Parts: sequence; C-alpha cells; structure tokens
Amino acid sequence: MSLAAGFDRLLQTYARTDLTFVRGEGCRVWDDAGGDYLDFAGGIAVVSLGHCHPAPLAAAQAQLERLWHVSNLYRTDPAEELASLLSARFGGAQAFFCNSGAEAIEAALKYARKATGKSGVVALEGSFHGRTLGALSATGQPGKRAAFEPLVPGVRFVRPNDAAALQLAADADVGLILLEPILGEGGVVPLEPGFVAAAAALPQLLCFDEVQTGVGRTGSFFAFEQLDVRPDLVTLAKGLANGLPIGALLVADHAAGAFAPGDHGSTFGGNPVSCAAACAVADAIDADLLDNVRLRGAQLAEALSGLPGALSVRGRGLLLGIDVEGAAVDVVDAARESGLLVLTAGESTVRLAPPLTVTAGEADEALVILGRILC
Ligand code: PLP
Repeated sequence: MSLAAGFDRLLQTYARTDLTFVRGEGCRVWDDAGGDYLDFAGGIAVVSLGHCHPAPLAAAQAQLERLWHVSNLYRTDPAEELASLLSARFGGAQAFFCNSGAEAIEAALKYARKATGKSGVVALEGSFHGRTLGALSATGQPGKRAAFEPLVPGVRFVRPNDAAALQLAADADVGLILLEPILGEGGVVPLEPGFVAAAAALPQLLCFDEVQTGVGRTGSFFAFEQLDVRPDLVTLAKGLANGLPIGALLVADHAAGAFAPGDHGSTFGGNPVSCAAACAVADAIDADLLDNVRLRGAQLAEALSGLPGALSVRGRGLLLGIDVEGAAVDVVDAARESGLLVLTAGESTVRLAPPLTVTAGEADEALVILGRILC
C-alpha cells in the first residue's frame, strides 16, 4: 500500500503538515528526507526529557522484556512505584492511572461527583481539558463544543482571573472548580495568585489541570507550587512518560476515599511500560533540571520580548506564548521552513514548549530563527 493511500485511510481529524518524521534525539527530529528540525513543540509539550532520552528508554525497554500488561486485577511494581513518587512530589496523594489527559479529566469529574454528590462544575472561558464528552463539556471554547451539543450539563464558565465571577458561579450545585494554572491551548494565560487563592478559599473541590503545566514544565514539578496553593485534585498526562501514553488523577490525602472498587477503571491504565518510563522521568526531574527550565525560559522570554514582531510574551519556565500581529500559524509555517518546530495557542499566539533539557545553544538557535521571522 502506498503511503498516500495510507494517509487517506486515517479519519481526517487533524490538519496535518505533509512531513513524515522518522527519528528523534534530544531536541532534534529528522524527517524521511534526512532534514533535521529543532523541536520546540516537543510533541505538544510531551517530550519532557527530549527524544529517546536514555533513562525512560532503558526503563521502558527493561519493562518490555519483563511484562507488558497484566490488567488492574493484579498489582504491579511500576504503577505502585509511580504512585509513591507522585505522592512524595505532591506531599501525600493517591493516584488513578489512565492513558491520556482527557481520561484524567474524566476521572476528576467523576471523582468530584462521587465525593461531593454535586454535578456542577466551574471552569474557565478559553480553557482546554480534552475532547471526550465530559472533558469537552468543561472546555471553555465554544468553537470546539458547538458540533457536539448537547454536552454534559452543569458546567459554567467564568473569565480567567475574575475572582468575583468565580465566587458568584460557585453556587450550592457546584462540586468542582477546574483550573489550568496556565491556560495552555487557550493562549498561554497564567492565572494570577489572587484568583487562585480565591478559588482555594471556596468550599468546592479544587482541581488543577496540570496535563500541560505539570512534570517540571514551568520550573517546578507542579505549576501550583509557584502559586502558594494546594489543590484537592491534580490531573497529569503529556510529559509524564516522555511520550508513552499515560494520564493520572492525583487525589490529596485529605480528599481521598470517595472512589470504591467498581466506581472507575481503565483496561490499559497503569500500564507497566508507561509507568516504568514515567518513574524514570520523575526521577530525572531534579533541582538541576528545574534550574535549567527556569534559566532557559528566562533566556527565551527576555530575548523574545525584545523582538519587534512579538507584541507580548507570557508564560512560565518552558511554556511560553508570544502574541504576534498576524496569524500565529504563519509564524509556525515560516519557522518550520527554517528548521524550527513551534506551536500555536489560539489564533494569534505562538507557543514554545521545548524539552526541559534544551540547552542555551539550542535556545539561541531558535531565537535566531524567530528573530528573523518576528522582525
Ligand atoms: N488538559 C490540558 C490542560 C491539555 O492541554 C490537554 C491537551 O492538550 C488535555 C487536557 C487533553 O489531553 P489529551 O490530549 O492527552 O487527552
């Protein structure tokens, strides 16, 4: 079968670029014609330690040779080890493992209903929580929702950083407040500490969706660590296993106990290979790596702020958004043609999410290309 015929056999849910990647190492990927690209998209903020990083590679390989799957009817060491590592990072939590960010959100929505007996949710305008019906119901982007109405009822949306609107919306029917510490897909919009503190002061369960911001991306293991607030629930996915599929719901010890056997599950959740890779990722996120995230983030943000075509630069660590004058996708296309992969976050924001291991030299290389485009 020719490659073109195979492409047509995929449901056309993505606006895919006609570029086939065959290899990756560190911050670089190679296409099937031998062309190399500096990867500041990181598989959409997923390849946290860089492509084919030796630590998760060795852990996954060793686990592949031992045991791939045995189901959640039995115990496995990698899932329990990962739950312990994440609990230690959080400061006391239990984990439910699944396979994606949207599934982690589904778990959070169900957990909150069971724990509080309430179905109402407050989420943010412009937020993104995933494409499954529950996660989409809590996604504050009408364009993504419209074709799939009616969605799960009971979700109300408030403007990011509008504490008064949040307090008003969080009425007696609401059991869950769902926030991304930095709205990722919605334009790289950081939440203000005062808004987050107001959310934490409300009686509802507070869930931080750290699918994009978690696992070191903003310069701390969880982004909430920089907001001086502790949530009841956290969702993780993307960078957790450096590109192998995994998602997680963490429930703080003080909020634990709502799920009983039979309430929730996933055949592949807690897969030993993904969990083994994720343990290696969690181990690798040490003080030195987090320093690198903050330093490279500052290096990029400072240089980008000086570019005439960068209207504003937002974000934290290595999740950065650059507002541009025209369409962000034009910048993405121009960068790719110059050998640099970057992302959009909405119509007019270019997003950078390189591996956390990116070097100062690689950041400079990206800045030269972006400097030529945003001049
Ligand atoms: N939550 C956030 C904050 C995300 O950025 C995403 C994906 O971009 C999701 C949830 C959904 O994750 P997934 O695509 O793995 O289902």
